[in-house]
Amino acid sequence: MLEIKNLHVKIADEDTEILRGLDLTVNAGEVHAIMGPNGSGKSTLSYVLAGKDDYEITDGQILFMGQDLTEMEPDERAAAGLFLAFQYPVEIPGVAFMTFLKTALNAQRKARGEGELSTPDFMRVVREKAGQLNVSQEMLKRPVNVGFSGGEKKRSEILQMSLLEPKLCVLDETDSGLDIDALRVVSEGVNSLRSPERAMVVITHYQRLLDHIVPDVVHVMSAGRIVKTGGKELALELEKSGYAAFTEAA
Ligand code: ADP
Ligand code: MG
Ligand code: MG
Repeated sequence: MLEIKNLHVKIADEDTEILRGLDLTVNAGEVHAIMGPNGSGKSTLSYVLAGKDDYEITDGQILFMGQDLTEMEPDERAAAGLFLAFQYPVEIPGVAFMTFLKTALNAQRKARGEGELSTPDFMRVVREKAGQLNVSQEMLKRPVNVGFSGGEKKRSEILQMSLLEPKLCVLDETDSGLDIDALRVVSEGVNSLRSPERAMVVITHYQRLLDHIVPDVVHVMSAGRIVKTGGKELALELEKSGYAAFTEAA
């Protein structure tokens, strides 16, 4: 599903490399966790996957479902089934969450050669999913993420994810930790969307999240590359020993 080989990335207009030879393979049906100290390049990886402008790939390759991801525009990536949720979700004043969801869903359907959903059909789908995630009708009418609490932002993220039914979900979670409500929303959301056809990459600094989302594969990232890969026990090992043992090896 995702194959990253020897990825080198720097900030455009600067010399310092942030990703320095990163390799990562994610297969359908798998849930991966990427952990690592602050500043190791975790968020940079998610921005590069999203196609954010400020980053320049200087070497390496990213294949998504066998296609060169770097040659796809951000909207083409979404249409192909890539979903990214960021550490700091964007606020969109003046655009109701409901309208935003409808636009996103119809853009994806159009790119896949499917017709737009009628308003009643869309409303039916969104009401059903919103109900499952405890997203209120009132929240659907509010501008996207504006004034949303931490837990509401996570609900909004998971609602988008479940509506768009992506093939690969990449979630960049906060370093400081989620509150209990947000933690529950994210882990239940991710667990309910687990399927043999779908893969998830959960980027986190936060060990506790992995008590709720049990990953198949855990990676430790340090100084711009993956320095260790293991099973779910690696997360427990990290909790005990910290990152030092791995970052020194890097
Ligand atoms: P993490 O998510 O693991 O904490 P980041 O990807 O946010 O790490 O950052 C990795 C390194 O790249 C840090 O040293 C950070 O300061 C630097 N960096 C990230 N984005 C930018 C940017 N837009 N401009 C300059 N430096 C950046
Ligand atoms: Mg950080
Ligand atoms: Mg980060």
